[in-house]
Amino acid sequence: MNPEFDFADAASLAERRARLREKIPKSYHPAIYFGAVNLLALAAIGGSLGALRQVTLLEWCVIPVAFLVANLVEHRVHRGPMHHRSPPWTILFERHTRQHHVYFDQGHMAVATAREYFWVFFPWWAVGLVVVTALLFALPFAWLWSANAGRLFFAVAIAYYLSYEWLHFSHHLPPQSGLGRLPFLVALRRLHVAHHDPAKMTTRNFNITFPIADWLFGTLDRGRH
Ligand SMILES: [Zn+2]
Ligand SMILES: [Zn+2]
Repeated sequence: MNPEFDFADAASLAERRARLREKIPKSYHPAIYFGAVNLLALAAIGGSLGALRQVTLLEWCVIPVAFLVANLVEHRVHRGPMHHRSPPWTILFERHTRQHHVYFDQGHMAVATAREYFWVFFPWWAVGLVVVTALLFALPFAWLWSANAGRLFFAVAIAYYLSYEWLHFSHHLPPQSGLGRLPFLVALRRLHVAHHDPAKMTTRNFNITFPIADWLFGTLDRGRH
């Protein structure tokens, strides 16, 4: 049990959720926000891929490497500062542990209204952090190897972020929704539901996307018990 909260107190959880619901800005439109994020990400991916010139076989290998690095970074950041107060990254802990995990526990995973996606999607500042992190890896690839390698790394990193948002979106849909019933998504959702158990959130299932790093580091809980 995380000492920050007493999730066993259902009334307290309901109160926390009500307080967080009030904090959703009146101007927030999840479809507009998510649509804009998708357009910007696709433009960044398209711009990077469109600038590729005569890619060699070795340069194409950046794709699986970048995917694996993104999976490891997702696991590391989620296991670290998103679940442990770690200055100067306290804002990640606040947003994730004290807001996302308070709003959704394993018994209350689905949004009741689309506006509640405010507590699921990355805020704008976090999207900025994703871009900076992607550049921190992509620029050395570009400088030390080739422009193609850097562009491929950046495109994969942004595509990975987009897949994170889409998968997290589906994990918090009502299970009876069309998307929520796809077998592949049902399996991934089960892992994320286990992660939202307050007793497991600091130790299990830090990959919200594909549980590769969880499997590698022994933090995978298949959520079948
Ligand atoms: Zn979640
Ligand atoms: Zn978490």
